[in-house]
Amino acid sequence: MIDGLIDISQAVAHLRAGGLVAFPTETVYGLGADALNEAAIRRVFELKGRPAANPLIVHVADAWMAREVVAHWPREAQLLADAFWPGPLSIVLPAGPHIPKAVTGGGPSVAVRCPNHPTTLILLHEYEGPLVGPSANLSGKISPTSAAHVREAFSATDVPILDGGDCEVGIESTVLSLVGGRATILRPGVIGPEQIARVIGRGVTYEAPIPSAEGAPSPSPGLMPTHYAPAAKAVMVSGEDLPRVAREATGQVVALTISDVTLPPPHKCIPMPDTPEDYARALYTALRMADKPRTSVIAVETPPAGVSDEERAVWRAVMDRLTRATAPADTAART
Ligand code: AMP
Ligand code: MG
Repeated sequence: MIDGLIDISQAVAHLRAGGLVAFPTETVYGLGADALNEAAIRRVFELKGRPAANPLIVHVADAWMAREVVAHWPREAQLLADAFWPGPLSIVLPAGPHIPKAVTGGGPSVAVRCPNHPTTLILLHEYEGPLVGPSANLSGKISPTSAAHVREAFSATDVPILDGGDCEVGIESTVLSLVGGRATILRPGVIGPEQIARVIGRGVTYEAPIPSAEGAPSPSPGLMPTHYAPAAKAVMVSGEDLPRVAREATGQVVALTISDVTLPPPHKCIPMPDTPEDYARALYTALRMADKPRTSVIAVETPPAGVSDEERAVWRAVMDRLTRATAPADTAART
């Protein structure tokens, strides 16, 4: 059904020849290329239409491979790798000498992560080298959580796919910077600050940017307001406000709901799971379902904040994506 599906040994050969391969991870599908091959990296930016200053995450088979990518592998990084890898945590550290500048967005640091997907772990072990893996979508669009989503964005000629089924986590990794002796979350994900703090034994700050109304460009690469944007206008509203938004809309409203609010035809509701992990897993597919040509407004019901640390972390990561997806189109830089 999906054309251009390949197996692991074909993927290894294609990557060795400088080609690009989409690979599955537990977060979203990655657009894979040899992290040490500058021409292949340039092609990733070109195909995605990604701004050159937006750095790529380097995917590794294990902590041993991560050591080859960074200039220095501190004890805290090893503790975090022991606790969370393979898993949805990217660690930013000073870049090693072999990493092309194109990978780091021109900056001195690099993000590394060991993804938790059996197919891609085998791929990385067989490849015996690091692979970049930005989300396999056009810059600024909704991230792919299935092989079919990848194929909507890229042709079989440009991007063969290793199909690993639907992504289990469904939103991008937590990005944690350990640069300069600080521990700072640059992008929230399902692994939250409290969990990280417990492992490294000290506090973690949170510096992920909120897209501003003025759309001020970020001072540092990797801190750009991103935009997981559907084509239709998207807004975030409370459950109470949903009926009013539907009444005032000129065309069809498609609502992603959490409460049991319903809307009369021609509007539609896509009921979302009420646990944060399930919501995150379903989010991008739901946004794609809502984003049809006849949709005039996608209205996302504001999710709750959560009770436990773990719940709060995941809801915050979800809110981060929703804030960017519903930011007015001209206010956010694209990733
Ligand atoms: P994506 O590959 O689309 O999941 O996005 C990668 C994101 O990881 C970037 O937008 C940054 O937020 C972050 N990132 C990657 N490398 C770095 C780095 N060297 N410094 C800071 N943030 C980074
Ligand atoms: Mg992305």
